Amino acid sequence: MSLLQRSLAAVWHPCTQMKQHETLPLIAIARGEGPWLIAEDGQRYLDAVSSWWVNLFGHCNAHINQRLREQTEKLEHVILAGFTHEPVVRLSEELSALTGHALGHAFYASDGASATEIALKMSVHYWRNTGRLAKTRFVSLAGSYHGETVGALAVTDIALFREAYAPLVRAAATVASPDARAAEPGESAADVAIRAAAALEHFLAEHHAETAALIVEPLVQCATGMAMYDPEYLRRARALCDQYEVHLIADEIAVGCGRSGKFFAMEHTGVWPDFLCLSKGISGGYLPLSLVLSTDTVYQAFYADEVARGFLHSHSYTGNALACTAALATLEIFRDERVLEANAQRAAWLARAAEPIAAHPAVKHLRQQGMILAFDVACPESGFARGFHAHALAEGLLLRPIGNTVYWMPPYVLDEAQCQWLGERTLAALSKTLAGVP
Ligand SMILES: *Cc1c(COP(=O)(O)O)cnc(C)c1O
Repeated sequence: MSLLQRSLAAVWHPCTQMKQHETLPLIAIARGEGPWLIAEDGQRYLDAVSSWWVNLFGHCNAHINQRLREQTEKLEHVILAGFTHEPVVRLSEELSALTGHALGHAFYASDGASATEIALKMSVHYWRNTGRLAKTRFVSLAGSYHGETVGALAVTDIALFREAYAPLVRAAATVASPDARAAEPGESAADVAIRAAAALEHFLAEHHAETAALIVEPLVQCATGMAMYDPEYLRRARALCDQYEVHLIADEIAVGCGRSGKFFAMEHTGVWPDFLCLSKGISGGYLPLSLVLSTDTVYQAFYADEVARGFLHSHSYTGNALACTAALATLEIFRDERVLEANAQRAAWLARAAEPIAAHPAVKHLRQQGMILAFDVACPESGFARGFHAHALAEGLLLRPIGNTVYWMPPYVLDEAQCQWLGERTLAALSKTLAGVP
């Protein structure tokens, strides 16, 4: 049996109707090299989605490899209850410093959904510890995505991911998304944000007594189709959360780590949340790692003589030394290679490369936030994403549209020529898909 046949027999692939692989072949990747994935058959694909938004500095990055090799000779992992180690301490200190010490306490897990669960549990437990027992509900934005474990599904408003599990899920309330595409003629993105904030105020005025937290994906709701919005929404949400005594949870699992143009997306707003979730890019795309940063006010509410007032949550691999080392190496690259400055240039190259796409008559709402660029395609939705994905592969690109939204979320290593090439090949894949080329 070939590797592909063996994979289909033994591996249950994620986010996949396995039967579709009867017609769409799997691709076996032999190795990675910078932004390139190199298949067993020698084909090369530009990883324009950073392998599900995790890879920041290309595959097999020499610096991260070196740091990991050194760490494997010292310590791979140790229980983090009762013990500590240099990588987890340094990582926590560096992340705290990046928030200007507004969020100085780091709690670790392995995947993004677990970070969401931790923030939700910490928020409710905080209110319990402070005598506000009624505050056990959450509110999220329409179209939100915060992960797919049962608790995280409660604040994920994507029917396809939630419907089958509805009986398990205590769904949160949803309020209007500030998605700038909802602008009426003559309205700006900020106008839409102000309108959505008014809807949030309306909700909180009525429900603050039982609401523990508002959870948001700052600036870009990625999984629903790269819905981008004005930072004014977050400033207003922060003020409303303060006014109504509701926590603000910023899920920066996708938009953190430089993706938005700043290290944290919340830096575009001038305010901080009570909880900030990170995962995906934090380990450079190397190892599963997630964390929740929280304020000293939150931390102090758990600090007591009674054990049960503490946050007793744990995961086996909490604070894994190799994953923390990959994250430290990632932060070193940000500093040593002045990545945020370089990305400002890179984002401009992406914008230029997308100009011919914007001129295509079927393309609407071409939009960009830092290192995320997206556009919507006016055509019947059925089959577009799959058809486009296949045409993109034939052009040497890994792209996975969400519904009719095509997006780029590439690693922070593309040069000007590669950005140009990405634009040309994307346009070619789009033309072939719309022309109905099989
Ligand atoms: C990917 C993602 C998650 C879930 O992370 P996993 O590691 O896939 O569990 C949560 N929130 C956002 C915004 C995400 O993009």
